[in-house]
Amino acid sequence: MSGMDCYTCRHNEAFGTLPPRELIAADRHWRVAHAFDAALPGWLILVPLRHAESIADLTDDEAAALGTWQVRLSRALHAVTGCTKTYVVQFAEKEGFAHVHFHVVPRMPDLPADHRGPRVFAYLNAPGDHRVTAPAQDLLAAALRAHLTPADPDPATPG
Ligand SMILES: [Zn+2]
Repeated sequence: MSGMDCYTCRHNEAFGTLPPRELIAADRHWRVAHAFDAALPGWLILVPLRHAESIADLTDDEAAALGTWQVRLSRALHAVTGCTKTYVVQFAEKEGFAHVHFHVVPRMPDLPADHRGPRVFAYLNAPGDHRVTAPAQDLLAAALRAHLTPADPDPATPG
């Protein structure tokens, strides 16, 4: 499955016209978006630009950049949200969302005990009126960008 069947590929193919919340940062291999249906501000999604449905299918170059992105995004989330740490999770099990995607989630100091660990996913797939609004996501995107230092040795963006 790829192309129009895949939510992430449809967005990757629209790279040049994506709003800030869908293109917080990118390099030749990865794109960073704010989760569209999260109730938790700063819930980020890290996706490869190429369709892949298993981590084992990533190239060595994609893998090398992946580690750097996970750490850089975590640093930016610490700076912007005040989180105490980040959760990094990859399932890609939902219909239409088989494209590999890493959730990078700010674990806030006041996160209720019964929502820690895997149960933080209670904040995803939120009903419309509970979601972080699109304008709020765009503001977060701008704040995160300001904390993403251009440390990538190969920051070329596609398109
Ligand atoms: Zn895809």
